Amino acid sequence: MAGQRVRTRFAPSPTGYLHVGGLRTALYNYLFAKKMNGDFVIRIEDTDQSRRVEDAEKNLISSLEWAGIVADESPVRGGNYGPYVQSQRLSIYRDYCMQLLEERNAYYCFSTAEELEENRQLQLKQGLQPKYNRKWLPEEMGGNMPSSEVRKKMEEGAPYVVRMKVPDYVSVWFEDLIRGPIEFDSATIDDQVLMKSDGFPTYHFASVIDDHLMEFTHIIRGEEWLPSMPKHLLLYEFFGWEPPKFAHLPLLLNADRSKLSKRQGDVAVEDYIRKGFSSEAIVNFVALLGWNEGEGSEQEVFSMNELIQKFSLERVGRAGAVFNVEKLNWLEKQYIKTRPVAQIVSNIKPLLLEELKGRPFEMPEPLITSDAYLGKVVDLMRERVNYEHEFVTFSSYFFFEPESYEPEAVQKRWTSEIPALLQEFATVLESCGEFTAESIEEALKAFVVPKGLKPALLIHPLRIVASGVSFGPSLYHMLEVLGKETVLRRIVRGIDRIGQGS
Ligand code: GLU
Repeated sequence: MAGQRVRTRFAPSPTGYLHVGGLRTALYNYLFAKKMNGDFVIRIEDTDQSRRVEDAEKNLISSLEWAGIVADESPVRGGNYGPYVQSQRLSIYRDYCMQLLEERNAYYCFSTAEELEENRQLQLKQGLQPKYNRKWLPEEMGGNMPSSEVRKKMEEGAPYVVRMKVPDYVSVWFEDLIRGPIEFDSATIDDQVLMKSDGFPTYHFASVIDDHLMEFTHIIRGEEWLPSMPKHLLLYEFFGWEPPKFAHLPLLLNADRSKLSKRQGDVAVEDYIRKGFSSEAIVNFVALLGWNEGEGSEQEVFSMNELIQKFSLERVGRAGAVFNVEKLNWLEKQYIKTRPVAQIVSNIKPLLLEELKGRPFEMPEPLITSDAYLGKVVDLMRERVNYEHEFVTFSSYFFFEPESYEPEAVQKRWTSEIPALLQEFATVLESCGEFTAESIEEALKAFVVPKGLKPALLIHPLRIVASGVSFGPSLYHMLEVLGKETVLRRIVRGIDRIGQGS
């Protein structure tokens, strides 16, 4: 393998969406390959036909490309090692299966599902780890089944699978690039099914053959595949192939350290895309789930190019990585702070038009979907939103009249003198020449001070009528962006809706 061009792969099963764990696996494979000036390949593992989802592979590939992970070879791009979809490689697996059968490293098995289940229950009752009981291991391979019986079943056309014959009393060993040396005793290894009765290979068989034929040098994948290693290593040994190097990535965990699950939040990358998270933040976030730059480094914001330069498998930990959405929000905020206004505006414009379709805009549409207006909203709100959709959802009062007024705020701030005061202040605002944050602030102070009142008395109710909520950006700046007409209309409407208060 020395001096060989580095080749890595991401080998998803097309089950309908890209899991964040899958994105991390793809990313680490991509970063490692690019750092080593090698190739990153996508191979679709669709040998479980019952789990197939139409168009899943296209979605997977487009989600990866959205993240900036573009494969050198894939079902879409092609390449010299295709086809890159396992269901198009069935004859290859069949030939290699024949070879194992001929060389007596595999055997036909006619045990029915009921028999297997019965055997499993029996072993469990005896406190044994369930394994195939080798009923169909032929005599010439050390089993009890006469080959005439095997032939008879074949002639009858009985359904069968092909199993690998795990050698007795051997130990299988490899050195994981993240976990160090790991050894397995063959007594613990099951005679794995290689070919299923539908003529499709199992994951184990197909992936070993493809990893070899596609000349991958490094297999980087989730820790859940570690227990499969002895089966895979034995297959390499049967074929006389040199295995690639392996790295098993730490599990992703929920905040309570249980295995990452849908129940505790979104796990599909597409959910985050839909919410308006940026690819930079997601990639940055996922990169840090298990990898860090090393001691002494305080850096947390990394671009894809920096990640390519800095990534190394030595700096991937073994301990489970907690999927902390707060961190993703924080990272997204960092990116929003530095993203050019024009880019954010062009990203949020379609969201604004789409997401809130059917709801009447309060101000004329050309005004509030104009670059100038949206630019002002972005400037004012960019420190406050977690992701771009929140410019539309969290700041909806810039586009729509408040639908309601926060009851706790009303109760606390809307005293009986407020309607009259607001009405009077509205006339002051109306005669304001300029309508800027400064002029509004000045006008408000000049209005309350001679009355012996505190500005806060009016600031809070003004915010409530203008936005419906008790929190937000600087009130004066918010009013400036909304514009005089809208503010005056909202004061009247607020008084009308909230009433005389208590
Ligand atoms: N198809 C497997 C999966 O869905 C790939 C495992 C591997 O990388 O070997 O995760």
